[in-house]
Amino acid sequence: MRTPFVAGNWKMFSNSDSAQKLAAAIVAGVGKEDRVRVAVCPPFPYLALVGAILNGSRVGLGGQNHYPEKEGAFTGEVSPSMLLDVGCQYVIVGHSERRHKLGESDAFINRKVKAALAAGLRPILCVGETLEEREANQTAAVLQRQLTQGLADVPSSADLHEQLVIAYEPVWAIGTGCNATPAQAQEANAFLRSRLAEQLGRATADQMIIQYGGSTKPDNAASLLNQPDVDGALVGGASLNAVQFLTIVQAAIRR
Ligand code: PEP
Repeated sequence: MRTPFVAGNWKMFSNSDSAQKLAAAIVAGVGKEDRVRVAVCPPFPYLALVGAILNGSRVGLGGQNHYPEKEGAFTGEVSPSMLLDVGCQYVIVGHSERRHKLGESDAFINRKVKAALAAGLRPILCVGETLEEREANQTAAVLQRQLTQGLADVPSSADLHEQLVIAYEPVWAIGTGCNATPAQAQEANAFLRSRLAEQLGRATADQMIIQYGGSTKPDNAASLLNQPDVDGALVGGASLNAVQFLTIVQAAIRR
């Protein structure tokens, strides 16, 4: 039985005031609910502020990115231990906006996955095809490459499913208002689970949380989250609105 996981990616939105208000509303809405795991990923400058509001609640904190070194002369970068230090449990890795707008490679993303795991920070590894790749029937090949290379040299362990989260995020669905159909999300997530079984073993694959992300909204969340291999959502736009985000959290509880 996989507990669904809904995470909000606030991207480069909010300010200190709105971030704290949003976090407080989400904490109040989630309350003591334990049938779903919830986290928010604010911009770096607001992590500590938001973390103080989440403290003692059932809402986790995540970074949106990190640099895969412990420390050093990497101007502008943030290490896994710094994220942990301000209270993060999660970090988003391989988001398509970083792959495609900032040119991050599978090899670099793999370093980030391994650095996060080594530090005790849980990576949410995002994978997903572009529209051109889908139309060229390359979806499976792209997902397989991103997953295999993203997780290269990550050893299987009995508790890996607690340390790592996968998010299927078709690039054409992110921020476009055009979500994948439930059938498309299920097909991709089931494929990812089968590849995880090959790479990490059936037991790990069966327990791994595989989210869907891409224009998840209150009106489509239930149909997406009701799919057997869709174990939650990575939510962008709708996570900036507490009512919308909490409606998606509720849909995950009822799945
Ligand atoms: C995302 O940023 O990961 C995302 C899924 O965004 P949106 O929900 O806005 O499509």
